[in-house]
Amino acid sequence: MKVIKLRDGKERSLLRRHPWVFEGSIAGGRADAGETVRVESHAGEFLAWGAYSPASAIRVRAWSFDVAERIDASLFDRRIAQAIALRARLPIDSDAMRLVHGEADGLPGLVVDRYGDTLCAQFGAAGVERFKSVMADALLRHSGCARLYERSDASVRALEGLAATTGWLRLPAGDAGTTELTLREHGWRLTLDVAEGHKTGYYLDQRDARKLFADSVRHFGCQRVLNGYSYTGGFSVAALAGGAAHVTSVDSSAPALARATANVALNGFAAARHSVLDADVNQTLRRALAQGERFDAIVLDPPKFAPSAAHAERAARAYKDINRLAFQLLAPGGLLFTFSCSGGISADLFQKIVAGAGLDAGVDGLFYARTSAAPDHPMTVTFPEGEYLKGWAILKR
Ligand code: SAH
Repeated sequence: MKVIKLRDGKERSLLRRHPWVFEGSIAGGRADAGETVRVESHAGEFLAWGAYSPASAIRVRAWSFDVAERIDASLFDRRIAQAIALRARLPIDSDAMRLVHGEADGLPGLVVDRYGDTLCAQFGAAGVERFKSVMADALLRHSGCARLYERSDASVRALEGLAATTGWLRLPAGDAGTTELTLREHGWRLTLDVAEGHKTGYYLDQRDARKLFADSVRHFGCQRVLNGYSYTGGFSVAALAGGAAHVTSVDSSAPALARATANVALNGFAAARHSVLDADVNQTLRRALAQGERFDAIVLDPPKFAPSAAHAERAARAYKDINRLAFQLLAPGGLLFTFSCSGGISADLFQKIVAGAGLDAGVDGLFYARTSAAPDHPMTVTFPEGEYLKGWAILKR
């Protein structure tokens, strides 16, 4: 077993069971990509078993803090079984859910989403890449799914020195391997394509926020709705289900908007109640304002403006800008659902940005409800960095 020795004083985060060892904390030792290593303090005490990643700034990701643990197929089998058992206990009103959420499930770098009988996985680190085959088998065994599609094409792969890989990892004989799927979420049906869509095909993390939006649109009687950064129209379907008269979905991806149109039809809503706009959201908000338009509810669910804290300042300006425009566009009593999925923007900072946007717009609003990623994307005690998605429902005065 190869040993990675830390520099003096760098053992603290592993002692707190945080799973990452950065390049700069290491005094000596090396191993192959994904190889299991023993991480020791400078004094030579055992700290963790982990996976070595020679190309990554996160040089080791810990598998276990228990010296007696063996890092083998049976450990991964147990971790996957535990992750799936946890989801079975959570309140998830859908046949689609995140089964494995990386570090939070003791499987650093592995993300697995379930869509009905199909799994879609991202192997995003050298350790999980090395054990891909045993993990794939365990995933099928414990989920009862027969199909597993790999979407290891996220940008994090490059940081790990791994090439992008996509395609079926497991597919039963005779299965034509269609990647176009339909999921059920709350009372709605939505289609996706695990091969073509963003991430693994759908933004499962916003499930509970979409439900809150549908309920709020109904409660407050919102009629005219703007869904900014709509992707395939999840919040648009929610608004129509909540009784909105008309929803405009705005996104810069034409295929996503085509699917939004199809999703509206699939749920039985009249085509006249929905329009799509292939455009930049910021520009769209400015234009709508100039034309004197008003909305009763606006959703802003942009992509990650700040991938890390280093981008926070610029991102903060971008968030503030769109939120200020949305505050201005809302009719009195209107509802703003605003989100940030930037790991580099804390929940506190996001609230300050949104409040600043309201002040700049010259309007007041109630922070009415707070949202976060659905619980199948857990944030845990040992890995608070897992918090990325935060949102507010705000009621304009
Ligand atoms: N709310 C969606 C997820 C949104 S993901 C859901 O519930 O499923 C963010 C979306 O923003 C992506 O679909 C992406 O195509 C889109 N996007 C990125 N930059 C954009 C821009 N400047 N203007 C409009 N859409 C943009």
